Amino acid sequence: MPPHELAQFDLAEKADIFAPGGLPLDSLWDSLQRRGVRWRGWNWRTPEAQAFAELRDAVRAGAHDFLFLYTADLDALLHREGSGGANVHERMGRYDAWTRELAASAGRPVWLYLCSDHGMVDVKSHAGVMARVDALPYARGRDYVAFYDSTMARFWWRTPAARDAVRAALDAEPLGRWLTDDELRAEGALFEKREYGDDVFLLEPGALLVPSFMGSRAVAGMHGYDASHPDMTALLASNRELPADVRHLADLRGFLERELDALATEAA
Ligand SMILES: [Zn+2]
Repeated sequence: MPPHELAQFDLAEKADIFAPGGLPLDSLWDSLQRRGVRWRGWNWRTPEAQAFAELRDAVRAGAHDFLFLYTADLDALLHREGSGGANVHERMGRYDAWTRELAASAGRPVWLYLCSDHGMVDVKSHAGVMARVDALPYARGRDYVAFYDSTMARFWWRTPAARDAVRAALDAEPLGRWLTDDELRAEGALFEKREYGDDVFLLEPGALLVPSFMGSRAVAGMHGYDASHPDMTALLASNRELPADVRHLADLRGFLERELDALATEAA
């Protein structure tokens, strides 16, 4: 984004979100600390292969109750190649082998959980959302503030006339639509202070904002669409039984807490 517009925005992630106290709400990591769980985690700060090797060693050593590995590699590969990519396919095979190796090499039963935070949609079309808005006789930063993500454009209005003009201009964009407050509320995305935009224009699954503040060139896969699209579905797999009421990403933390309770019971 233009550097002089940075001052209009705040950062969403100021601390280490994978550590206790790193989120502005109570997290699983805070809970692990309160429970006195012996745990260790790896995130994007450690290269994936190194993180896995250290995780495998830690599983074998058996000194922890909870081990967590996060990787963003598959996300990056899917963005670059799309769901049919050769390296995506190869990486899925690698994860399969790693998961089996973890289970087999522990020398005792381990409870494994494999989860993702979103799916990925293959990109089929490009929308020139910025061009439509830039063509209007209203200035970004003066008449309105805008943030152009890969799949949505978010606006904060400074004048009613700018709002009317931008809304009308994007009503003519066939690849997206304005979200209503009811839709935002249903997704848990209606914020009282409108921190994330007064109005949100969302593209249909498979369409990409080109250019956007995220990049000037197209990519092959993207997420951040209507969560009801089948390719947006995330994954939760386990060698433990998954209760029928664990259906949504937001159910995962509570489920893992119950698993920790079960682990404590088993140990006692
Ligand atoms: Zn991504």
